[in-house]
Amino acid sequence: MNMKNTNILYQHGTLALLVPGLLTGTLKMKNLLSHGDTGIGTGEGLDGELIILNGIAYQADSFGKVNPISSEFTVPFANIHYADYKKLTTIANASPADLAKAALQGKPNSNNFFSVLVKGTFSYMKTRAVAKSERPFSTLAETAKNQSVFETKNVAGTLLSYYSPSLFHGAAVAGYHSHFLASDHSIGGHVLDFKIDQGTLSLQQFDTLEQHLPIDNEEFNAHDFSKDDIANTISQAE
Ligand SMILES: [Zn+2]
Repeated sequence: MNMKNTNILYQHGTLALLVPGLLTGTLKMKNLLSHGDTGIGTGEGLDGELIILNGIAYQADSFGKVNPISSEFTVPFANIHYADYKKLTTIANASPADLAKAALQGKPNSNNFFSVLVKGTFSYMKTRAVAKSERPFSTLAETAKNQSVFETKNVAGTLLSYYSPSLFHGAAVAGYHSHFLASDHSIGGHVLDFKIDQGTLSLQQFDTLEQHLPIDNEEFNAHDFSKDDIANTISQAE
């Protein structure tokens, strides 16, 4: 039995815990998927960039491949929710700034969490995928240096984005955090830049952030975050 509350954004871990290198996968994909059907995240050791669409999880890896994910795959960080998007508008010839403006409907920012979904064609897409690192894990800044960047033109696909209010920078990244999956799986990953050719822009607002923490992880429990440069590191890496 599942109460599919579409007003809840569920988050496992925080971006802050990645900063000092707490990259252990602390939640299994099958457990994550009990909290939604749509989401983003990363694997243990920053093992690629994850996107969950229609209840199916995919990994864009640093070799440029899109892989299915097993139910035992573990994540140190992920966002997930039950999709209930409302179509806002159609959008064409749009940069990330244009999309942000359209999604915010003229407001400079939002104090609420919401998700943006763009399905359509993209005249340009630039993504990155971090390569999996092994123990002992290094910091987020060091680990994220080992990443591949992918670019393509004229690709159809889905852009999935989460907006977090600036107040929550640290737990999440303030503003938009976007992942992409091409319809033909030719490209995916954490979005660095894009140009929408034609698409539909849909939006889903949340009234609740459900923040789940890895309370059984000894490294997390023992870590002192007061010395970590969390805000700056997240701004640079995400
Ligand atoms: Zn990402």
